[in-house]
Amino acid sequence: MKIVLDESRALQNLIDLLAIEGLSGHEGAIVEAIRAKLQAAGVPAAWIRTDAANARIAKALGRPASDFETGNLIVRWPGTRPGPRRMFLGHMDTVPLCRGARPVRRGNFIRPASKTTALGADNRVAVAALVTLVETLLREKWPHPPLTILFTICEEIGLYGAKHLRLSDVGHPAMAFNIDSGDPARLVVGAIGAVKWTAHIHGISSHAGVHPERGVSAVLIAARAIERVAARGYFGAIRKGARRGTANAGIIHGGEATNQVTHHVEVRGECRSHDPSFLRVITREWREAFERAARSVRNREGQRGRVELEVRSDYASFRLPDSHPAVRFALAQARAVGLRPRAEIMDGGLDANPLNDAGVPTITLGAGQHNPHSTDEHVNIPEFLDGCRLVLQLAVAEDPSA
Ligand SMILES: [Zn+2]
Repeated sequence: MKIVLDESRALQNLIDLLAIEGLSGHEGAIVEAIRAKLQAAGVPAAWIRTDAANARIAKALGRPASDFETGNLIVRWPGTRPGPRRMFLGHMDTVPLCRGARPVRRGNFIRPASKTTALGADNRVAVAALVTLVETLLREKWPHPPLTILFTICEEIGLYGAKHLRLSDVGHPAMAFNIDSGDPARLVVGAIGAVKWTAHIHGISSHAGVHPERGVSAVLIAARAIERVAARGYFGAIRKGARRGTANAGIIHGGEATNQVTHHVEVRGECRSHDPSFLRVITREWREAFERAARSVRNREGQRGRVELEVRSDYASFRLPDSHPAVRFALAQARAVGLRPRAEIMDGGLDANPLNDAGVPTITLGAGQHNPHSTDEHVNIPEFLDGCRLVLQLAVAEDPSA
């Protein structure tokens, strides 16, 4: 079957959806806009629901439930032909720089009307492509296997909607396609893993001018620890033989007065690698550096500082092999709509990370969003339309391996 896309309809969906604010945790208005479009297209209300991921996120983060307006929006669609369930997803939330953004079309691009905001193409291109998928299938009545359409919350603040998704709520899909980048020909089949950490450094305070010898400086401990990891090659870009990663200390807080030996400093940072065992090595280097530094700083009485390093896994890395049926299927369908696809791995976290971790092979593709999280953010319209065509093709194509 030849995919024919109503391009002006797809573009109108994108313009409509770009104009709606929906920062992380505040996706209520965009959920209502999507729901209205789906019902207008003829989706029965019984297929549409929101899950309770928002309550689980609030609980996990120890924040009030009111910080998270809505759960993930899920459409569970019975197939018009048998086959394993396929899921299509994109996140609904946008970054704070998108507050007040208004989309303006100029030629082949959509840009923010004001130079003071981003656009929200990350990731409303996905939302528009998914709404267009639903409208097109209902209108054209092309046969398709069971489908789940998933609009996630809180991706931008830590992939929380996807992390707190229950697979039973989305019907245990056999494979998934996540829309969240620019070039539709670039299929992301692997992504990096990351941990975030906080070092709580405790020293002993004392008057810095009168009795400096009684103090244990948390600032000095932090400085020695960071210098040690850097000297050993574990700060910034990390290369150890064939192993690669990155690490950064990004935030330092502490101190109350210049005349006081600082008794508490908090350092926050992250480590990343595609290789889960190397990620543990990098994290261990940082832990050892803080612990050694704490032991090395003493006051006149021989008292030392101490460090508690709190490490949490941000997301796990994954890599689908080129021979994986989902990768072969995606490459074949991209060629079928006239693209020249390539499979790549990426150095950032995606909603695909927790899904792959949970056992759902998930491939990420683009739909024309560029320079996200900046005032240069824009949509490349031909790429957006190609992304819409690829999503349609992935939804209806027969899968010989299934
Ligand atoms: Zn995104």
